[in-house]
Amino acid sequence: MLEIKDLSVAVKDKKILDSFNINILDGEIHAVMGPNGVGKSTLSRVIMGDNSYKVLKGTIMYNGIDITKMAVDERARLGIFIAMQNPLSIEGVKNSEFLKTALSTVKNRNVSIFEFIKSMDKSMDELNMDHSMLHRSLNKGFSGGERKKNEILQMKVLQPSLVILDELDSGLDVDSLKIVCKNINDYLKANPKTSVLIITHYPKILQYIKPDYVHAFVDGRIIKTSDMSLAYEIEKNGYIGINEVKENL
Ligand code: ADP
Ligand code: MG
Repeated sequence: MLEIKDLSVAVKDKKILDSFNINILDGEIHAVMGPNGVGKSTLSRVIMGDNSYKVLKGTIMYNGIDITKMAVDERARLGIFIAMQNPLSIEGVKNSEFLKTALSTVKNRNVSIFEFIKSMDKSMDELNMDHSMLHRSLNKGFSGGERKKNEILQMKVLQPSLVILDELDSGLDVDSLKIVCKNINDYLKANPKTSVLIITHYPKILQYIKPDYVHAFVDGRIIKTSDMSLAYEIEKNGYIGINEVKENL
């Protein structure tokens, strides 16, 4: 589904990704773990098409299509979705309007208000969200946890084929984290071909969404790939003790 090959990315002349490689097949869950500031959010934003990052070399392929130079909305239409680490708030744009516009963009047609409200009510109940949030400005005054729930509400509405979760657990209390992860797991059960890229500096979320592969991301690229045991190794020894394993590159 997603194949990143030899990708180098810079922001403001600082190289962040350095010959980065990853290959995610249909239905797989991958966790990329790395220390603060290594470039995890950069990676997620580059996959989504944020043009404040400069691609120096390499390619991002999505289901066989080269998306390296594609605009954000085109990538969203292909089914790529990101739940951001720090979701933006926009004064004056109603959450409901934002979601309906996003849904119309992704479906490439006008979505009826009837269709929209039906899918919204059910999803908000499943996320234990207050329905009044739909009528407020996008994320304005939302708590950290409410913003994260709102991101997953978007996921449920947009029905992506690749879900990128950037530090999903930041701002979520333990009960909310469980609810949010249950919603994601239920979505994956109903859509088994959907792939997930979990980006995290800490292994906690991996107890709730179980990865097939865990990658250690240090110095601009993945230096080791394994299963959940790598997450425990990182928790125990930190990133400093991880030695590069060349054959996994
Ligand atoms: P992580 O998510 O792994 O903590 P980020 O991807 O957010 O790391 O950032 C990686 C590095 O790139 C950091 O040193 C950060 O300060 C820098 N960086 C990211 N985005 C920008 C930007 N828009 N302008 C300047 N520096 C940036
Ligand atoms: Mg980050």
